[in-house]
Amino acid sequence: MLLVLFGCAAVAPDSPAADPETRVIVVGAGAAGLTAARALHDAGVAVTVLEARDRIGGRAWTAEVGAATVDLGAAWAHGVEDNPMVDFADAHGLAYTPDATRWGRLYDAGSGRALGDAGWSALDDAYDGFEASLDDLKDDLGDTTVAAARDAWIADEGLAGQDARLARHAIDQWMVELSYAGPVDNTGLAWFWDEPELAGGDQFPVGGYGGWMDALADGLDIRLEHPVTTITHDPDGGVTVEAAGAVFEGTHAIVTVPVGVLRAGSITFAPPLSAERRAALDRLDTGNLEKVVLVWDEPWWDGSLEYVAADNSGAFPEFYDLSATAGAPTLVALYGGGFARELQAGGSDAAIVASALDVLAEAYGRAIPTPAHTAVTRWTSDPFTLGSYTYLPPGASPDDIDALAAPEHARLAFAGEGTSRLYYGNVHAAVLTGLREARRLGVERFAVAGWEDW
Ligand SMILES: Cc1cc2nc3c(=O)[nH]c(=O)nc-3n(C[C@H](O)[C@H](O)[C@H](O)COP(=O)(O)OP(=O)(O)OC[C@H]3O[C@@H](n4cnc5c(N)ncnc54)[C@H](O)[C@@H]3O)c2cc1C
Repeated sequence: MLLVLFGCAAVAPDSPAADPETRVIVVGAGAAGLTAARALHDAGVAVTVLEARDRIGGRAWTAEVGAATVDLGAAWAHGVEDNPMVDFADAHGLAYTPDATRWGRLYDAGSGRALGDAGWSALDDAYDGFEASLDDLKDDLGDTTVAAARDAWIADEGLAGQDARLARHAIDQWMVELSYAGPVDNTGLAWFWDEPELAGGDQFPVGGYGGWMDALADGLDIRLEHPVTTITHDPDGGVTVEAAGAVFEGTHAIVTVPVGVLRAGSITFAPPLSAERRAALDRLDTGNLEKVVLVWDEPWWDGSLEYVAADNSGAFPEFYDLSATAGAPTLVALYGGGFARELQAGGSDAAIVASALDVLAEAYGRAIPTPAHTAVTRWTSDPFTLGSYTYLPPGASPDDIDALAAPEHARLAFAGEGTSRLYYGNVHAAVLTGLREARRLGVERFAVAGWEDW
């Protein structure tokens, strides 16, 4: 096909990207929105990004907590091979460092003691064993929850007492609530663990994801504190977007707000979104991964902590020692699933910090010094996220993600992690969907350093 060249970009002739009248409105300045906007802008297309918050980055948010620099949302680049976010970072001199977490302690609250290598092996064995049995469990149990499959597997293996508790921890926490983020008793079995992984291991962006988002946003027209309330769209006309009392007219819109925001109906679409999209939104859900950041002036611990709750409640299963990347003595507690849903619903920030400190006191058998600085995330109730990221309950399938990825029509498209069938829940998912939507408007070769071959 003959291509029209703008700088190093190539756009398809007769495509919206080749039309000087085209004006694209991107809703949301997270990884997906910034990617789409950047790819279009650098191909010569007029783009305005409307962002509800007073900052860019969305769920990639690096904050200062006292002297510590910490990612409150995404923290890891999960794989460096075939990862467009990492390719962008490489081309822009943005460094990353392998996750070299050292696990100092495994504490089993059920037996009230720290476990050694045998405890870690039991966790690893359960993880591997359950993973190896998944195909059979799916065949036998069908479209049920991972919790049901876990119960069946533990019974089948004849595990009891501490062995059963550790197996449940490995499955519930490692495989489900800290990765997919939804509650294990509402995470669907049918499609569980089917997504491919990118090669190259987990890496921390040096200085946090915030710098990567800043680089993506460089030079773009971004209107902060512009929560979009209404999008009026016409396949034969254009789009009218209302935000913060202002009206923005465009020829096309790309909506990148999270699935939780779409599910809540926070944005009025006129005409309403298709029945297929609304049905898919009803079937999908967003999880509840949250963090508690604890910063001290002096370290008092030794490595990261794995905490196995006596009742497998999912209470603060992991405390990462992130002192090296944060630049100050820092533990970050991760928790998700049902425990996070309950704690977030009922607890003040102070109460959540106190609960996390109680777990530390129990696991270390000592009084814990009061942290100098703390931060508590609220992705679950944040009106511009409403959940950490997408997961598939029973009854949902990757076809629902495809339904979200499909454009409403040629002038109204959607991007964001929840529209990536293969990689939903990740930053690279969001970036891939931003590139997808820029390509849909006609950008055939990206002029952005790092994305020339995408
Ligand atoms: C605690 C946590 C840990 C995570 N850890 C990792 C990790 O380690 N690695 C990884 O790869 N991924 C991780 N993720 C997932 C990753 O952060 C997301 O998949 C990715 O950042 C999503 O990007 P996005 O552009 O799709 O959405 P977002 O980043 O959410 O961007 C959407 C934007 O839309 C804006 N918005 C919402 N409503 C409106 C409105 N009405 N008008 C205008 N703007 C609006 C939001 O403010 C936001 O800026 C984590 C997420 C969380 C919450």
